[in-house]
Amino acid sequence: MHETTRLLRDLVALPSINPMGRPLSGPDLYEHRVTTYLEQFFRSLGVSYQRQPVAPLRDNILAWTDTAEAPATILFEAHQDTVPTDNMTIDPFAAHIENGRLYGRGACDIKGGMAAMLVAFARLVRDKPKGAARVVMIYTVDEEFTFLGVQRLAQLGLRERFPDLCGAVVAEPTQLHVVNSHKGAVRWDLTTTGRSCHSSRPEQGVNAIYRMAAVLLHLERYAEELRASRSDPRLGPPTLSVGRIDGGASVNTVPDRCRIEIDRRLLPGEQASAALEHLYNYLRQQVDPSLTFSFSAPWLSAPPLSAAGSEALVARLGAAIDSVIGSHQVEAVPYGTDAAPLAEAGIPAVVFGPGDIARAHTCDEWVPLVEVEQASEILYRLACSW
Ligand SMILES: [Zn+2]
Repeated sequence: MHETTRLLRDLVALPSINPMGRPLSGPDLYEHRVTTYLEQFFRSLGVSYQRQPVAPLRDNILAWTDTAEAPATILFEAHQDTVPTDNMTIDPFAAHIENGRLYGRGACDIKGGMAAMLVAFARLVRDKPKGAARVVMIYTVDEEFTFLGVQRLAQLGLRERFPDLCGAVVAEPTQLHVVNSHKGAVRWDLTTTGRSCHSSRPEQGVNAIYRMAAVLLHLERYAEELRASRSDPRLGPPTLSVGRIDGGASVNTVPDRCRIEIDRRLLPGEQASAALEHLYNYLRQQVDPSLTFSFSAPWLSAPPLSAAGSEALVARLGAAIDSVIGSHQVEAVPYGTDAAPLAEAGIPAVVFGPGDIARAHTCDEWVPLVEVEQASEILYRLACSW
Protein backbone atom coordinates (compact mmCIF):
# COMPACT_ATOMS: atom_id res chain seq x y z
CA MET A 1 0.00 0.00 0.00
CA HIS A 2 1.30 3.45 -0.94
CA GLU A 3 2.20 5.68 2.01
CA THR A 4 -0.36 8.32 0.97
CA THR A 5 -3.11 5.67 0.97
CA ARG A 6 -2.14 4.41 4.42
CA LEU A 7 -2.19 7.93 5.86
CA LEU A 8 -5.44 8.85 4.11
CA ARG A 9 -7.11 5.73 5.48
CA ASP A 10 -6.02 6.68 9.00
CA LEU A 11 -7.24 10.27 8.61
CA VAL A 12 -10.67 9.36 7.21
CA ALA A 13 -11.17 6.87 10.07
CA LEU A 14 -10.76 9.77 12.55
CA PRO A 15 -13.98 11.84 12.59
CA SER A 16 -13.39 15.61 12.62
CA ILE A 17 -16.87 16.94 12.01
CA ASN A 18 -17.54 20.65 12.07
CA PRO A 19 -21.04 21.17 13.55
CA MET A 20 -21.40 24.20 11.23
CA GLY A 21 -23.25 26.20 13.89
CA ARG A 22 -25.92 23.53 14.35
CA PRO A 23 -26.80 22.16 17.82
CA LEU A 24 -25.12 18.80 17.18
CA SER A 25 -23.54 16.74 19.93
CA GLY A 26 -21.65 13.47 20.13
CA PRO A 27 -18.17 12.04 20.07
CA ASP A 28 -17.48 12.66 16.37
CA LEU A 29 -17.42 16.46 16.62
CA TYR A 30 -14.43 18.76 16.27
CA GLU A 31 -10.91 18.26 14.99
CA HIS A 32 -9.03 17.04 18.11
CA ARG A 33 -8.56 13.40 17.00
CA VAL A 34 -6.92 14.50 13.77
CA THR A 35 -4.80 17.04 15.64
CA THR A 36 -3.52 14.34 17.99
CA TYR A 37 -2.73 12.09 15.02
CA LEU A 38 -0.81 14.90 13.32
CA GLU A 39 1.07 15.67 16.53
CA GLN A 40 2.18 12.04 16.80
CA PHE A 41 3.16 12.07 13.13
CA PHE A 42 5.33 15.17 13.56
CA ARG A 43 6.83 13.85 16.79
CA SER A 44 7.79 10.57 15.12
CA LEU A 45 9.51 12.55 12.36
CA GLY A 46 11.47 14.48 14.98
CA VAL A 47 10.53 17.90 13.62
CA SER A 48 9.58 21.06 15.49
CA TYR A 49 5.85 21.56 15.86
CA GLN A 50 3.39 23.75 17.73
CA ARG A 51 -0.27 23.50 18.69
CA GLN A 52 -2.26 26.70 18.68
CA PRO A 53 -5.49 26.46 20.72
CA VAL A 54 -8.41 28.11 18.91
CA ALA A 55 -11.48 26.79 20.78
CA PRO A 56 -12.20 23.79 23.05
CA LEU A 57 -11.10 20.56 21.24
CA ARG A 58 -10.03 22.71 18.30
CA ASP A 59 -6.30 23.45 17.85
CA ASN A 60 -4.41 24.53 14.78
CA ILE A 61 -1.17 22.59 14.44
CA LEU A 62 1.96 23.54 12.53
CA ALA A 63 5.31 21.88 11.94
CA TRP A 64 8.37 22.79 9.95
CA THR A 65 11.55 21.35 8.51
CA ASP A 66 14.62 22.57 10.39
CA THR A 67 16.79 23.37 7.40
CA ALA A 68 19.09 26.27 8.24
CA GLU A 69 20.37 26.68 4.68
CA ALA A 70 17.01 26.69 2.88
CA PRO A 71 16.72 29.16 -0.03
CA ALA A 72 13.07 29.98 0.75
CA THR A 73 10.16 28.99 2.95
CA ILE A 74 6.82 27.72 1.65
CA LEU A 75 3.61 26.90 3.54
CA PHE A 76 1.55 23.79 2.91
CA GLU A 77 -1.87 24.38 4.43
CA ALA A 78 -4.97 22.19 4.84
CA HIS A 79 -8.02 22.23 7.07
CA GLN A 80 -8.67 19.46 9.60
CA ASP A 81 -12.47 19.67 9.68
CA THR A 82 -15.10 18.03 7.50
CA VAL A 83 -18.77 18.81 6.99
CA PRO A 84 -21.31 16.63 8.89
CA THR A 85 -22.28 13.13 7.74
CA ASP A 86 -26.10 13.50 7.41
CA ASN A 87 -27.68 11.42 4.64
CA MET A 88 -24.47 9.67 3.66
CA THR A 89 -25.08 6.42 1.81
CA ILE A 90 -21.71 4.92 2.80
CA ASP A 91 -20.03 4.40 6.16
CA PRO A 92 -18.39 7.83 6.60
CA PHE A 93 -15.41 6.53 8.58
CA ALA A 94 -14.77 3.04 7.11
CA ALA A 95 -12.24 4.43 4.58
CA HIS A 96 -13.34 1.70 2.18
CA ILE A 97 -11.14 1.25 -0.90
CA GLU A 98 -12.56 0.05 -4.19
CA ASN A 99 -11.52 0.50 -7.84
CA GLY A 100 -8.72 2.88 -6.93
CA ARG A 101 -10.99 5.16 -4.90
CA LEU A 102 -11.05 5.73 -1.16
CA TYR A 103 -14.54 6.46 0.20
CA GLY A 104 -15.50 8.40 3.32
CA ARG A 105 -16.30 11.80 4.78
CA GLY A 106 -13.37 14.09 4.13
CA ALA A 107 -11.66 11.72 1.66
CA CYS A 108 -11.95 14.37 -1.04
CA ASP A 109 -12.32 17.51 1.12
CA ILE A 110 -9.58 17.53 2.23
CA LYS A 111 -7.92 14.59 3.88
CA GLY A 112 -6.63 13.44 0.48
CA GLY A 113 -4.77 16.73 0.12
CA MET A 114 -3.65 16.53 3.73
CA ALA A 115 -2.19 13.03 3.23
CA ALA A 116 -0.40 14.19 0.06
CA MET A 117 1.20 17.06 1.99
CA LEU A 118 2.19 14.87 4.95
CA VAL A 119 3.96 12.33 2.76
CA ALA A 120 5.78 15.04 0.79
CA PHE A 121 6.83 16.63 4.09
CA ALA A 122 8.03 13.32 5.55
CA ARG A 123 10.13 12.64 2.43
CA LEU A 124 11.71 16.10 2.69
CA VAL A 125 12.55 15.47 6.35
CA ARG A 126 14.03 12.02 5.67
CA ASP A 127 15.83 12.68 2.36
CA LYS A 128 17.00 16.25 3.10
CA PRO A 129 17.31 17.04 -0.65
CA LYS A 130 19.99 19.64 -1.24
CA GLY A 131 18.69 23.15 -1.93
CA ALA A 132 15.06 22.37 -1.08
CA ALA A 133 12.81 25.03 0.42
CA ARG A 134 11.90 24.92 4.09
CA VAL A 135 8.31 23.67 4.37
CA VAL A 136 5.96 24.86 7.08
CA MET A 137 2.91 22.62 7.46
CA ILE A 138 -0.20 24.27 8.83
CA TYR A 139 -3.40 22.43 9.63
CA THR A 140 -6.27 24.70 10.61
CA VAL A 141 -9.67 24.20 12.25
CA ASP A 142 -13.11 25.44 11.21
CA GLU A 143 -12.52 26.11 7.52
CA GLU A 144 -15.94 24.75 6.60
CA PHE A 145 -17.89 27.24 8.69
CA THR A 146 -16.34 30.49 9.93
CA PHE A 147 -12.58 30.26 9.16
CA LEU A 148 -11.68 30.56 12.86
CA GLY A 149 -8.43 28.65 12.46
CA VAL A 150 -6.89 30.58 9.59
CA GLN A 151 -7.89 33.88 11.17
CA ARG A 152 -6.07 32.89 14.36
CA LEU A 153 -2.85 32.20 12.41
CA ALA A 154 -2.22 35.93 12.22
CA GLN A 155 -1.25 35.80 15.92
CA LEU A 156 1.66 33.47 15.15
CA GLY A 157 3.63 36.11 13.27
CA LEU A 158 4.58 33.74 10.46
CA ARG A 159 6.22 36.49 8.41
CA GLU A 160 8.46 37.44 11.31
CA ARG A 161 9.34 33.82 12.13
CA PHE A 162 10.00 32.92 8.50
CA PRO A 163 11.17 36.14 6.80
CA ASP A 164 11.88 34.32 3.53
CA LEU A 165 8.28 33.07 3.31
CA CYS A 166 7.45 33.21 -0.39
CA GLY A 167 4.10 31.49 -0.75
CA ALA A 168 1.43 29.09 0.43
CA VAL A 169 -0.20 26.08 -1.20
CA VAL A 170 -3.67 25.55 0.26
CA ALA A 171 -5.17 22.09 -0.17
CA GLU A 172 -8.63 21.83 -1.71
CA PRO A 173 -9.80 19.35 -4.35
CA THR A 174 -8.77 21.01 -7.63
CA GLN A 175 -8.11 17.83 -9.69
CA LEU A 176 -4.42 18.77 -9.63
CA HIS A 177 -5.06 22.11 -11.35
CA VAL A 178 -3.86 25.41 -9.90
CA VAL A 179 -6.53 27.76 -8.57
CA ASN A 180 -5.32 31.33 -8.24
CA SER A 181 -8.58 33.26 -7.87
CA HIS A 182 -11.96 32.92 -6.20
CA LYS A 183 -14.79 35.01 -4.85
CA GLY A 184 -15.13 36.04 -1.22
CA ALA A 185 -18.26 36.00 0.91
CA VAL A 186 -19.68 38.14 3.67
CA ARG A 187 -22.78 37.19 5.65
CA TRP A 188 -24.75 39.23 8.13
CA ASP A 189 -28.26 39.92 9.48
CA LEU A 190 -30.61 42.73 8.66
CA THR A 191 -33.32 43.38 11.26
CA THR A 192 -36.42 45.53 11.04
CA THR A 193 -38.11 46.65 14.25
CA GLY A 194 -41.68 47.71 14.99
CA ARG A 195 -44.04 47.76 17.95
CA SER A 196 -45.99 44.69 19.02
CA CYS A 197 -49.62 44.60 20.15
CA HIS A 198 -52.55 42.20 20.09
CA SER A 199 -53.54 41.26 16.55
CA SER A 200 -57.19 42.13 17.25
CA ARG A 201 -56.07 45.79 17.11
CA PRO A 202 -53.25 45.73 14.58
CA GLU A 203 -53.56 49.47 13.93
CA GLN A 204 -52.09 50.09 17.40
CA GLY A 205 -48.79 48.41 16.53
CA VAL A 206 -46.09 48.66 13.88
CA ASN A 207 -45.62 45.44 11.97
CA ALA A 208 -41.91 44.59 11.56
CA ILE A 209 -42.76 41.90 8.96
CA TYR A 210 -44.49 44.43 6.72
CA ARG A 211 -41.44 46.64 7.11
CA MET A 212 -39.20 43.78 6.10
CA ALA A 213 -41.39 43.15 3.05
CA ALA A 214 -40.72 46.72 1.96
CA VAL A 215 -36.98 46.30 2.52
CA LEU A 216 -36.94 43.00 0.61
CA LEU A 217 -38.34 44.57 -2.57
CA HIS A 218 -35.45 47.04 -2.56
CA LEU A 219 -32.96 44.26 -1.80
CA GLU A 220 -34.18 42.25 -4.78
CA ARG A 221 -33.72 45.26 -7.06
CA TYR A 222 -30.30 45.98 -5.54
CA ALA A 223 -29.23 42.39 -6.21
CA GLU A 224 -30.27 42.72 -9.89
CA GLU A 225 -28.39 46.00 -10.25
CA LEU A 226 -25.35 44.53 -8.54
CA ARG A 227 -25.23 41.60 -10.98
CA ALA A 228 -25.44 44.02 -13.90
CA SER A 229 -22.90 46.49 -12.48
CA ARG A 230 -19.71 44.65 -13.44
CA SER A 231 -18.30 41.24 -14.12
CA ASP A 232 -14.94 39.57 -13.65
CA PRO A 233 -14.02 37.71 -16.87
CA ARG A 234 -13.22 34.53 -14.90
CA LEU A 235 -15.53 34.78 -11.87
CA GLY A 236 -18.62 36.54 -13.19
CA PRO A 237 -20.49 39.29 -11.35
CA PRO A 238 -20.73 40.04 -7.64
CA THR A 239 -23.98 38.72 -6.17
CA LEU A 240 -26.32 39.17 -3.25
CA SER A 241 -28.87 36.69 -1.95
CA VAL A 242 -31.28 36.60 0.98
CA GLY A 243 -31.25 33.06 2.35
CA ARG A 244 -33.29 33.06 5.59
CA ILE A 245 -36.11 35.02 7.18
CA ASP A 246 -37.38 34.85 10.70
CA GLY A 247 -39.87 37.05 12.55
CA GLY A 248 -42.91 37.19 14.79
CA ALA A 249 -43.86 35.38 17.98
CA SER A 250 -47.38 34.15 17.26
CA VAL A 251 -50.16 34.69 14.77
CA ASN A 252 -52.18 36.78 17.23
CA THR A 253 -49.33 39.23 17.93
CA VAL A 254 -48.22 42.06 15.67
CA PRO A 255 -44.48 41.35 15.35
CA ASP A 256 -41.93 43.85 16.61
CA ARG A 257 -38.91 42.18 14.96
CA CYS A 258 -38.08 40.52 11.68
CA ARG A 259 -34.64 39.31 10.68
CA ILE A 260 -33.11 38.11 7.44
CA GLU A 261 -29.70 36.62 6.63
CA ILE A 262 -27.85 38.08 3.67
CA ASP A 263 -25.07 36.44 1.62
CA ARG A 264 -22.95 38.78 -0.50
CA ARG A 265 -20.26 37.34 -2.81
CA LEU A 266 -17.28 39.60 -3.37
CA LEU A 267 -15.03 39.92 -6.39
CA PRO A 268 -11.27 40.37 -5.95
CA GLY A 269 -10.70 44.00 -5.08
CA GLU A 270 -13.97 44.35 -3.14
CA GLN A 271 -13.94 44.90 0.63
CA ALA A 272 -16.68 43.43 2.83
CA SER A 273 -17.01 46.64 4.85
CA ALA A 274 -17.46 48.74 1.71
CA ALA A 275 -20.05 46.30 0.34
CA LEU A 276 -22.13 46.57 3.53
CA GLU A 277 -21.82 50.34 3.61
CA HIS A 278 -22.90 50.64 -0.03
CA LEU A 279 -26.01 48.55 0.55
CA TYR A 280 -26.84 50.36 3.80
CA ASN A 281 -26.70 53.76 2.09
CA TYR A 282 -28.78 52.45 -0.84
CA LEU A 283 -31.52 51.19 1.48
CA ARG A 284 -31.51 54.37 3.54
CA GLN A 285 -32.16 56.34 0.37
CA GLN A 286 -34.84 53.99 -0.91
CA VAL A 287 -36.99 53.15 2.11
CA ASP A 288 -39.30 55.44 4.03
CA PRO A 289 -37.26 57.43 6.61
CA SER A 290 -39.58 56.25 9.40
CA LEU A 291 -38.73 52.61 8.64
CA THR A 292 -36.14 51.45 11.14
CA PHE A 293 -33.72 48.72 10.17
CA SER A 294 -30.23 47.74 11.28
CA PHE A 295 -27.31 45.60 10.13
CA SER A 296 -25.52 43.19 12.46
CA ALA A 297 -21.75 42.91 12.28
CA PRO A 298 -20.79 40.27 9.69
CA TRP A 299 -20.76 36.82 11.26
CA LEU A 300 -18.82 35.43 8.33
CA SER A 301 -16.27 37.35 6.34
CA ALA A 302 -14.14 35.40 3.87
CA PRO A 303 -12.11 37.59 1.54
CA PRO A 304 -11.80 36.96 -2.21
CA LEU A 305 -8.56 35.57 -3.64
CA SER A 306 -6.91 37.74 -6.27
CA ALA A 307 -4.55 36.33 -8.89
CA ALA A 308 -2.28 39.34 -8.45
CA GLY A 309 0.92 38.55 -6.54
CA SER A 310 0.96 34.77 -6.91
CA GLU A 311 2.30 34.65 -10.49
CA ALA A 312 5.74 33.29 -9.55
CA LEU A 313 4.24 30.60 -7.31
CA VAL A 314 1.73 29.64 -10.02
CA ALA A 315 4.57 29.22 -12.52
CA ARG A 316 6.66 27.14 -10.12
CA LEU A 317 3.77 24.89 -9.10
CA GLY A 318 2.65 24.60 -12.73
CA ALA A 319 6.11 23.37 -13.71
CA ALA A 320 6.06 20.78 -10.91
CA ILE A 321 2.63 19.55 -12.06
CA ASP A 322 3.80 19.33 -15.68
CA SER A 323 6.83 17.28 -14.63
CA VAL A 324 4.57 14.67 -12.99
CA ILE A 325 1.38 14.53 -15.09
CA GLY A 326 2.30 16.37 -18.28
CA SER A 327 0.06 19.48 -18.17
CA HIS A 328 -1.95 21.74 -15.90
CA GLN A 329 -4.60 24.45 -15.99
CA VAL A 330 -4.82 27.69 -14.00
CA GLU A 331 -8.40 28.23 -12.86
CA ALA A 332 -10.77 30.51 -11.01
CA VAL A 333 -13.41 28.83 -8.82
CA PRO A 334 -16.63 29.99 -7.13
CA TYR A 335 -15.95 28.59 -3.63
CA GLY A 336 -13.94 30.23 -0.85
CA THR A 337 -10.78 28.82 0.73
CA ASP A 338 -8.16 29.48 3.41
CA ALA A 339 -5.92 30.87 0.64
CA ALA A 340 -7.65 34.24 0.66
CA PRO A 341 -6.92 35.20 4.29
CA LEU A 342 -3.30 34.10 3.79
CA ALA A 343 -3.04 36.27 0.66
CA GLU A 344 -4.59 39.17 2.58
CA ALA A 345 -1.82 38.73 5.16
CA GLY A 346 0.71 39.28 2.37
CA ILE A 347 1.57 35.64 1.62
CA PRO A 348 1.09 34.73 -2.07
CA ALA A 349 -1.33 31.80 -1.99
CA VAL A 350 -2.73 29.28 -4.46
CA VAL A 351 -5.09 26.33 -4.11
CA PHE A 352 -4.12 22.83 -5.23
CA GLY A 353 -5.04 19.27 -4.39
CA PRO A 354 -6.28 15.85 -5.48
CA GLY A 355 -9.95 15.05 -6.07
CA ASP A 356 -12.88 16.86 -7.61
CA ILE A 357 -14.80 19.55 -5.69
CA ALA A 358 -17.97 17.99 -7.15
CA ARG A 359 -17.30 14.97 -4.87
CA ALA A 360 -16.80 17.11 -1.74
CA HIS A 361 -19.58 17.09 0.89
CA THR A 362 -21.49 14.37 -1.03
CA CYS A 363 -23.37 11.31 0.25
CA ASP A 364 -20.66 8.96 -1.09
CA GLU A 365 -17.57 11.19 -1.01
CA TRP A 366 -14.44 9.66 -2.53
CA VAL A 367 -11.04 10.55 -3.94
CA PRO A 368 -8.95 8.78 -6.62
CA LEU A 369 -5.91 7.36 -4.83
CA VAL A 370 -3.63 7.88 -7.82
CA GLU A 371 -4.30 11.64 -7.67
CA VAL A 372 -3.33 11.69 -3.99
CA GLU A 373 -0.01 10.01 -4.84
CA GLN A 374 0.55 12.40 -7.77
CA ALA A 375 -0.27 15.44 -5.61
CA SER A 376 2.30 14.30 -3.07
CA GLU A 377 4.98 13.89 -5.76
CA ILE A 378 4.13 17.33 -7.18
CA LEU A 379 4.41 19.01 -3.77
CA TYR A 380 7.73 17.27 -3.11
CA ARG A 381 9.09 18.48 -6.46
CA LEU A 382 7.74 21.99 -5.80
CA ALA A 383 9.70 22.16 -2.53
CA CYS A 384 12.81 20.88 -4.37
CA SER A 385 12.45 23.44 -7.18
CA TRP A 386 14.26 26.35 -5.51
ZN1 LIG B 1 -12.21 22.03 1.92
